[in-house]
Amino acid sequence: MNKIIIIGAGFAGLSAAGRLAKCGLDLKISIFDKKSHSDFLPLIPDCIGRGVNPEILACDISNFCRKRKIEFIREEVNAVDFKSKLVSTPQAAYAYDFLIIASGTQSNFFSNQPARQYGFPLNSVNDAKTIMKALKDNDKFTNFIICGAGYTGVEAAANFSLYFKKQGLIKRVIMVERAQTILGPLPEWMKSYIERNLLDMGIEILVNSVVENIQEDNLRLSSGRVFDHAMLVWVPGVRTADFIHKLGVNKNPQGRIVVDEYLRINQDCFCAGDTALFTGNNNSLRMAVQFAITEGEHAAGNIARSIKNLSLKKFRPLDLGYIIPLANNKSCGRVFGLNLRGILPTLLHYIMCIFRLRGLTNKAGIISSLIKGLCR
Ligand SMILES: Cc1cc2nc3c(=O)[nH]c(=O)nc-3n(C[C@H](O)[C@H](O)[C@H](O)COP(=O)(O)OP(=O)(O)OC[C@H]3O[C@@H](n4cnc5c(N)ncnc54)[C@H](O)[C@@H]3O)c2cc1C
Repeated sequence: MNKIIIIGAGFAGLSAAGRLAKCGLDLKISIFDKKSHSDFLPLIPDCIGRGVNPEILACDISNFCRKRKIEFIREEVNAVDFKSKLVSTPQAAYAYDFLIIASGTQSNFFSNQPARQYGFPLNSVNDAKTIMKALKDNDKFTNFIICGAGYTGVEAAANFSLYFKKQGLIKRVIMVERAQTILGPLPEWMKSYIERNLLDMGIEILVNSVVENIQEDNLRLSSGRVFDHAMLVWVPGVRTADFIHKLGVNKNPQGRIVVDEYLRINQDCFCAGDTALFTGNNNSLRMAVQFAITEGEHAAGNIARSIKNLSLKKFRPLDLGYIIPLANNKSCGRVFGLNLRGILPTLLHYIMCIFRLRGLTNKAGIISSLIKGLCR
């Protein structure tokens, strides 16, 4: 019996595990995660603005595993030894025949200790709950500083603005971005469309600006501007899990591991999802759910082929496009090669989320929150 270990029960890890469980081979599949639940990240910002219940975005990993006879080990991996083929956690070391690393990414604090201490990241169901709890005290914060104007920053700002509008509260939402423009590599028409929408929602945008000094709820920017009673929403970027940074493999500065055309790091180790840096047609794949799922399945398929002594299949990603959802329902994106803006991409985004979310009750919960939001 071959022992397969999967690190991370996110989109990539669960799709790999599901595929292996169905492949008909005699396998012992173990999946490791530091949490008991798998977070549905694309709807996390909607917990703030649209009132989506964070609980329904957390899929119980034990439940998923039990149904498929997969072993779930709730431990945090802190080392992998490729030579001895061992995965270690603070509790024990576990041997594998084949390994899939699918541990995603986490918030990057860039060694900024005050940001870690006082900032509010938005990268998990727990982060959303913490923010919502802090928002309950209407008087504590008057300024909401969103540090980082990438996809998550833009979504977060729009959702904060929607939340205050619904509550009838007057608060300042300010996006602070180090670069010259928001949303880095996106096409110009998308950036200006989104910027116009954010400004229409009353959100201030400060580019060429850095949050320099953080003292609890008092912040100073590189321009010298100071904000009191400020909630710092920390979304300037992500990095891979700590154990990855110790691995002697080829990585980019975020710690994403360079994989070959079969999604391998070496003979017996594959990598999938946000942790993997796959390059096809000279472009690195962006971090997205569609690629995490298909990479997880593909890595699992190649493990099954290795066991059967068949030649491996090259990974050929199918890019359906992307959408930047905005909480005022004026989203934009590029889907099947078409530029879209307005309500249509908003609907497509949520249809895709409902399709991918696990569990009928959870799907129903999302539909009811969204109908309220879209019809407002
Ligand atoms: C706010 C937000 C909004 C997003 N919106 C969209 C969107 O609209 N569309 C889209 O396509 N993508 C979106 N994304 C990106 C998308 O969520 C990711 O690309 C996707 O989750 C990657 O899947 P994954 O399986 O690689 O990692 P994840 O889903 O992050 O799963 C990784 C798992 O590994 C576990 N783990 C990490 N380290 C360890 C360790 N050391 N030991 C054990 N377990 C570990 C984690 O607990 C986690 O369960 C969004 C992301 C965020 C944060």
